[in-house]
Amino acid sequence: MVRFCPKCGGMMVPKKSKNKGRGVLLVCRRCGYTVRAYAKDYNLKEKVEKKPNDDVIVMEKDVSLETLPKTKIQCPRCGNNEAYWWVQQTRSADEAPTRFYQCTKCGYKWREYQ
Ligand SMILES: [Zn+2]
Ligand SMILES: [Zn+2]
Repeated sequence: MVRFCPKCGGMMVPKKSKNKGRGVLLVCRRCGYTVRAYAKDYNLKEKVEKKPNDDVIVMEKDVSLETLPKTKIQCPRCGNNEAYWWVQQTRSADEAPTRFYQCTKCGYKWREYQ
């Protein structure tokens, strides 16, 4: 379902409204003119930007953080200088186990890249 801008005739692209549950907005790519549209007409999927650090990191067991060793490393998110770390075997067994970190302050998890 393509709509065109009533002002300039440019193509309008759906954009999720910031107000949750208030539907979507159609924004003109050329002039920025905005109209409200119904969400059901535009099945907008949340755009998930894939960054390597955003991989879902699942711990094998419920590891209680207190038992994990800590190390001095800077959290990429909050800049805290201490993180728990553990080692986990990745999917293929011939790869070296990956070291994971979890910030002691904000809980952010990331993996070490070699
Ligand atoms: Zn326009
Ligand atoms: Zn942090």
